[in-house]
Amino acid sequence: TEYLKFESDRCTWLRPTSLDHLLQIKQAYPECRLVTGNTEIGIEVKFQKRHFKVMVSPALVEELREVVITEHGIQLGASVTLSDMETHLRRAVDTMPEEKTRVFSGFLEMLRWFAGHQIRNVASLGGNVMNASPISDLNPLLMACNAEIEFAAAGQGHRRVKLDMDFFRGYKKTRMRSSEVLVSVTVPFSAENIYFGSFKQANRKEDDISILNSGMWLELDETGCHVRDIRLAFGGMSFNTVLACKTMEALRGRRWDNSLLECACSQSFLPADLPLPPGAPGGMIAYRRTLTLSFFFRFYLSVLQKLQ
Ligand code: FAD
Repeated sequence: TEYLKFESDRCTWLRPTSLDHLLQIKQAYPECRLVTGNTEIGIEVKFQKRHFKVMVSPALVEELREVVITEHGIQLGASVTLSDMETHLRRAVDTMPEEKTRVFSGFLEMLRWFAGHQIRNVASLGGNVMNASPISDLNPLLMACNAEIEFAAAGQGHRRVKLDMDFFRGYKKTRMRSSEVLVSVTVPFSAENIYFGSFKQANRKEDDISILNSGMWLELDETGCHVRDIRLAFGGMSFNTVLACKTMEALRGRRWDNSLLECACSQSFLPADLPLPPGAPGGMIAYRRTLTLSFFFRFYLSVLQKLQ
């Protein structure tokens, strides 16, 4: 519970005790790296031989560890581990009305296939978001549900943005400013007319990174069968998480039936939204392109079954 500082010629390691103190450190050393679960940074240091001069552990910062149920959803501190996230989402799913927690159920399904117990026990939600990997398992879900991201910086207070198409600014780059830290992520509640799906395909079912993953969020209008809004987010199809924007636009207002499915899967929509040039990193081009359609088919069917 004490402020700690270790210093050598090569590296300084700091452990502040409050958010204010963490923000002051970030202001003084904008290039410093926060280390939470160390499951990404550890790989960078060990295998890519990266070296960070200043490293900061936010482990004692209360605001980054809090979990709060708000009017809009569940607000999870950036340092909350994936195992704790699972526990809190499970509790909400078990105690709240089913229609309110459909997005949470989608996250629970994804967390089940996220790495293994050892990693989930230390890896954080914030580390997954800020690492901004193109195959992050949580970012497509957060983008599909339009999760709210809270940043803070010394002297500038808190800033809230949506995790939307503009959030990622290139390979492993986000809208976070160099003076800021991520404080929390709010995963929203769903409602009677909202449906959510999460999908992951990996070489191995357990403890493996994704070949492709996806989060799909649907809002039907008052008729209960026409699309009011839809967001289809994919990981593994570009250098960062992307939305299938043309498809989303084309599906708005349409009836949730076979013709909608045909429209989404036709050459002008999902395949056009999610092109993969021959030789794209990761390979398996035809497989990944086919998976985007399979995921949508699964989502289409799951909603259809609920509507019947
Ligand atoms: P760290 O390594 O501590 O940090 C990651 C990055 O986030 C760093 O740049 C750090 O500075 C930044 N950061 C952390 N907290 C903050 C903050 N509050 N504000 C600003 N920046 C911050 N990922 C998947 O998506 N799916 C998988 O199935 C998966 N499997 C894995 C399996 C193994 C064996 C390993 C080693 C990794 C795996 N990963 C997987 C990747 C990794 O575990 C996740 O991305 C994890 O969520 C990272 O969290 P962390 O706390 O360990 O991040």
